Order: sequence, then C-alpha cells, then structure tokens
Amino acid sequence: MEAESSASGAAGAAAASAPGEGSTVVPLEVVYCGVCSLPPEYCEFGATVKKCTDWLAGNHPSLHQKLYSSEALESKMGTMTLEAQQKAEKDLAKKQQKEELRQEREAAKKKSSVITIKRVERTKRKYVTVVSGIEAFELVYKTVAKEFGKKFACGSSVTKSAAGTEEITVQGDLSDEILEELVEKYGIEEDNIRQVEESKKKGGSGAG
Ligand SMILES: [Zn+2]
Repeated sequence: MEAESSASGAAGAAAASAPGEGSTVVPLEVVYCGVCSLPPEYCEFGATVKKCTDWLAGNHPSLHQKLYSSEALESKMGTMTLEAQQKAEKDLAKKQQKEELRQEREAAKKKSSVITIKRVERTKRKYVTVVSGIEAFELVYKTVAKEFGKKFACGSSVTKSAAGTEEITVQGDLSDEILEELVEKYGIEEDNIRQVEESKKKGGSGAG
C-alpha cells in the first residue's frame, strides 16, 4: 500500500483500483437492499425479488440498470447451463409461491381476529375500558396504550388479564371512542372489533 497524505481514505482507495481490462467494475460503495438487506446481486434468489427490484430502481437506478438490464440478464443466463437455469427458475418460483402463501395466511389470520373492547364497571358509575387482541393486527400494546393516553387525556396502561395475556386498561368509559380510534387511526375493520360489557354484579355470569 502506498502512503497517502490525504486523511480521507475512502476516496483514495476508490482512485487506487484502476478498472481492470474486460472485468466488471464493482462499485466500492456497498449497497444493501432496503427490502431483504442482502447485497442487490443476491435479491433474485430471495422471495421478495419483485419488491427488491422496485426498491433498487427507486433508490439506486444505475445499479438497477446494471443488474437488471436485458443485456445483463442475457449474459448471466448465457453463463448458466440449461439445467442450472431451469433449477434457478424453479427455485425462485417455489420461493415466491411460499412468500405469497405466507402473505395470504397472514391476511386470513387478520380477517378472523377480533379486538375486544370491554367496558368494566369498577365502582358505581366508575368505568375502565379494557382493550385486548390488538397483537393480531401487529399493534404493540405499549405504544397503543401511550397513544390512547395522549388522545383521550386519561390514564392508560398495559395490564395483564386473568389469563396472563396483555391488554390495555384505559381509565374511563371510552368504548365508543376507542372503537372509532381503532377504525380511523389504526385501520381496523369494524367487523374485527367487538364491544362487550362487564358489570360488577356478583354471580351474574350468565349472558344478558
Ligand atoms: Zn433484496
């Protein structure tokens, strides 16, 4: 290595490596895919290749051009045996199918999940509102509890249910307001929310 008087090493290193004859010039700036976090050269082997490609086109158009121009694709295919090509395509199709299935399952799970908003009478005319089931919608109890507290200017905290699961306990009778907030701010379908009431009556465990 030659000693460089310049302190900024990155620029010096870039200038030092002259482009080789005929070989592909690899950019020194290391780019990692914003979707799958792999180097973009490997995105095509992942399950999110379509998203990856879109991301690259938007964020590093020149690199996208280099990797996905029809020329680049042709020359790459040219170096593979037909068998390897078919295997690569098959593998990719399998991965993409798997990813699609996963997304479908997730959507189905969301559709069938329910958030419960329970109005609980603590003492006479004093209520708390208990919200449970939000985790199925990728909401975080701590975050939502905080946001409820701010939105409704009231006490709101994460508590444990009798069964040991997490829930949010909001001070006050805010069942309708919370329903509205879940729909409007968090995009939950009303069909996925159930409002229930729990009165303080002893022994009244029957349905109303
Ligand atoms: Zn990627």
